[in-house]
Amino acid sequence: MLNKLSESIYYLSNQNDKDRPTLGLVCGDQYSLVIDGGNSVQHAKDFLQEISRLNVPPVKYLAITHAHWDHFLGMNEFNATIIVNRLTHQLINVWRNYSYDDYSLNEYVKSNKMSSHCMEIIQNEIPMRDSFKLNTPDIIFEHSLQIDLGNKICILERIRSTHTDDSTIVYIPDEKTIFLGDSAYGTITNSLFHFKQALLLLMIQDIQKYDADHFLLGHESICDLDEMDVFWRELISCSRAVTSTSLDCAIETFEKDHQRTPNENEMFFLKAFVNDQRLKSKQG
Ligand SMILES: [Zn+2]
Repeated sequence: MLNKLSESIYYLSNQNDKDRPTLGLVCGDQYSLVIDGGNSVQHAKDFLQEISRLNVPPVKYLAITHAHWDHFLGMNEFNATIIVNRLTHQLINVWRNYSYDDYSLNEYVKSNKMSSHCMEIIQNEIPMRDSFKLNTPDIIFEHSLQIDLGNKICILERIRSTHTDDSTIVYIPDEKTIFLGDSAYGTITNSLFHFKQALLLLMIQDIQKYDADHFLLGHESICDLDEMDVFWRELISCSRAVTSTSLDCAIETFEKDHQRTPNENEMFFLKAFVNDQRLKSKQG
């Protein structure tokens, strides 16, 4: 079932047990835009079937928020003009050159190019894998791009992000709605989950310059402005408390600053920023 946010915005909720992120649909008078291509052929087909039940203009564009497999492996199904930023283009190219037969997939998992979970989804949800090849994106932009779906402007921007260096957001001013993809999340490096501390405030700046009330996130579906404000506030206060690789010191600083113990989310963020410090100290 699609969720209807307004007359022109719909989304298919994320489904964590299947590693399926949120997929978006923005409809103008003439065309529709899909946000993210799905994690597989089957995911994309399920979304397209839901779209076909609506009376909306044809899907002309597909914007991919970043080059993580769960956001683009279904992209061929949409028969749309595929839009990505330059870095996403480069990263997807690597996947264009992959083979999707069992032997190759196993090799990618062994060499850490692919997670075993990703392999499983590909095996279960992409049919005719021996001939499977990803399409080439059609429009590649550097920093930002504006498209008009017919009385419905969409702004795509590559923003600074704690998740990946190639994060694109899609903002629809008319609707005060912003699709964030996974940009507001942390990431995993050398099996450590971390938030890139150096990019946190820059990212928040990049997102908050847009006047939005509805925020769609890759693995959460939808948040309102209050929920996002709480999320940013917790992240910022945790980042401030982390100035070394010691979690104990971070917790102590946090407790001094706030006169209380960190809640569950804050503990998670504190650990993630400490991990970031640990990764940085290894690099340096
Ligand atoms: Zn991601």
